[in-house]
Amino acid sequence: MTIREMLVYGERRLQQADIPEAKVNAWYLFAHVTGMTKSSFFLRAEEEAEDGWLTEYGHMLNLRMTRRPLEYITNETEFMGLPFYVDENVLIPRQDTECLVEEALSYVQGKDVLDLCTGSGCIGISLAVLGGCRSVTLADLSEAALRVARENAHKNQADVLFVQGDLFENIEDTYDVIVANPPYIPTSEIERLMPEVRDYEPRPALDGEEDGLHFYHRIIGESSRYLRFGGRLCFETGYNQGKAVCSYMKKSGYTNVEIKKDLAGLDRIVTGCRMEE
Ligand code: GLN
Repeated sequence: MTIREMLVYGERRLQQADIPEAKVNAWYLFAHVTGMTKSSFFLRAEEEAEDGWLTEYGHMLNLRMTRRPLEYITNETEFMGLPFYVDENVLIPRQDTECLVEEALSYVQGKDVLDLCTGSGCIGISLAVLGGCRSVTLADLSEAALRVARENAHKNQADVLFVQGDLFENIEDTYDVIVANPPYIPTSEIERLMPEVRDYEPRPALDGEEDGLHFYHRIIGESSRYLRFGGRLCFETGYNQGKAVCSYMKKSGYTNVEIKKDLAGLDRIVTGCRMEE
């Protein structure tokens, strides 16, 4: 089988299994297995494919046909242009979340930053690498997620701290900026998500309980002990949760509370300042 035939074989198998974006998925698995770029593919398309490649590619195609997400098969993804390792212990970083990082980058320089519900560490590590922060602390309830975050800090040579605990449970310091992309999907909606998310991504990283707002309430309610005066709280929210989170922050004494939209024009970020007393 030639290299071109190998790629086309994968495209066909994923198309027959009705995998969304079958061609793109086949390309990513092909590129992962062979290490080829588009240009090396075009140069070498008519050469024979190596047997080892075919075995590994076949195995990965089988996994993708079960709707396992591509990123959990290749164990890699990109976020803010940086490489991240991912596995089933962490949510796959979303492009939407880059909006949160972009927003926070405008005020983290020289600051002490806490990333709650860090998961893969994508938010805090991007801020550490790109933001010139004084310190970045990554916190998560899950030990397994923190192991992934540690690997990602190492991969990106980010100098960050780690705390295991339930939100602020084991946090002792105070911070200038707290960022979080907490679980925010209402429990009843999880069953309606695409199988890649519903069956493979970690439930605790998705489930925001009854109305999806559980973690915003807890974080906002407890944040004043950990956020310095004049400090900022910055959340990613679900597309229909901006107003609710905004009004809860205002009720809790935050000022300059603002909703920011993502590239699709949907509410995505809510930020506010802790008032000087
Ligand atoms: N902070 C991580 C992310 O944005 C994980 C979020 C989560 O588990 N809810 O990808």
